[in-house]
Amino acid sequence: MSHYQQPDGRQKLVVIGNGMGSVRFLEQLFASGQCRFHVTVLSEEDCPGYNRIQLSKLLAGSVDLDGIQLKSAAWYQQQGIELLMGENYKAIRIDRSLKRVVTHGGDTFDYDRLVLATGSLPNQIPVPGADLQGVLSFRSLADVNLMLEAGQGQAVVIGGGLLGLECGSGLAKRGMSVTIVDNMPMPMARQLDEHAGGLLRKELEGRGIAFRSSATLQSYQGVDGRVCGVQIDGEYLPASLVVVTAGVRPNIQLMQEAGLTCDRGVLVNERLQTSDPDIFTVGECAQMQLTGGQEAQSLLFGLVAPVYRHAEIVAASLLGDHDQTFTPVPIPTNLKVDGINLFSSGEFIPSDSDQVMTLDASDAGIYRKLVLQNNRIKGVLLYGDVTDGLWYQELMESGTDISSIRQQLIFGQRFLAA
Ligand SMILES: Cc1cc2nc3c(=O)[nH]c(=O)nc-3n(C[C@H](O)[C@H](O)[C@H](O)COP(=O)(O)OP(=O)(O)OC[C@H]3O[C@@H](n4cnc5c(N)ncnc54)[C@H](O)[C@@H]3O)c2cc1C
Repeated sequence: MSHYQQPDGRQKLVVIGNGMGSVRFLEQLFASGQCRFHVTVLSEEDCPGYNRIQLSKLLAGSVDLDGIQLKSAAWYQQQGIELLMGENYKAIRIDRSLKRVVTHGGDTFDYDRLVLATGSLPNQIPVPGADLQGVLSFRSLADVNLMLEAGQGQAVVIGGGLLGLECGSGLAKRGMSVTIVDNMPMPMARQLDEHAGGLLRKELEGRGIAFRSSATLQSYQGVDGRVCGVQIDGEYLPASLVVVTAGVRPNIQLMQEAGLTCDRGVLVNERLQTSDPDIFTVGECAQMQLTGGQEAQSLLFGLVAPVYRHAEIVAASLLGDHDQTFTPVPIPTNLKVDGINLFSSGEFIPSDSDQVMTLDASDAGIYRKLVLQNNRIKGVLLYGDVTDGLWYQELMESGTDISSIRQQLIFGQRFLAA
């Protein structure tokens, strides 16, 4: 077992994880060109942090590995960051009394400050056969490489949310025959209403993707330890590859074992500080307790925009600016499937007191819906033409009174200017 000593008079900062939050944090920390920490980053993955969002495009073949790299190995060197990668550098224990992190390979790293950026773990579905070879998740570069190795044949994707659709589309583009199985009645049921969900399903079916909606997975079937199909509601679907996209959960076992206060994620305040004041989190492993405003809120994170904000706040705090805090804002949904445009943000399923505006040109593949309350936009749903998405989003975030443009609002910003 080796013990890395502090190389100079600087404080030691250890970062666990080198995903999207971690990389943005490091960028911010070194943005001014000066950093008062000696920084060590421990990553269980084999390559420097990449743009996880672009894994869908990598799977579909529309970007290559270089195109998703966030920072080169040379960048870490130039900043003097010690980036240690691979299974041996997976952090397996945090000893808070000694302020020390222990890795799978047996190395130990002392810290003055520790940043946890371990992200999420994909949920598994507890049915027989879940450990068969060929039953995969969709979270990492390693997962995509395994999917690509599967070659052609039949694939089943479990889950018809954003990730499931992107995965199914990518596999179909690679020549696989794809069926998406979902227990909801339509794709992206959490982000779309019934009408938009129907349009999306029709478009994907037109591209050769089959759906089994309102269906329940009963088991994975295998031969010689390898998956050969799935059983759903009395139907057998053959498959040489099954990808499970059933949501994620914060990756916090390390923190629980270290005695940090946890619920579903590691509990943090609006400055991302854990129950140990020397330990911060960035990203999806965090669960934030907000006490300001009218009612207390507890937030989990599953999109990159809030994760980037975490990164800014923690970097600022470590550089001495303790005034930055997190404020939640609605984040639009973006499906990354070539040729399909949709935008969904805020509360687009109206309550009794809301007003709804719709524009339905389904034959042309266009549908718009705005949900209003007290002359303010509360929710936006755009299918087909999303050019006005950000404009509606700004109106919604700023709480702009739309009474003076109400007649033209549903047609979009260009119509207003005409
Ligand atoms: C296919 C796909 C598409 C997506 N598309 C979108 C999108 O369109 N828009 C959007 O906003 N978000 C999207 N997301 C979600 C987005 O990628 C995440 O919000 C973001 O990556 C979270 O950043 P993070 O740093 O918290 O976690 P991650 O990026 O997951 O990074 C965590 C890192 O920590 C490592 N790690 C964990 N435990 C340890 C340990 N003990 N020791 C060492 N290393 C460890 C992990 O291996 C991983 O590399 C997508 C995700 C996927 C998988």
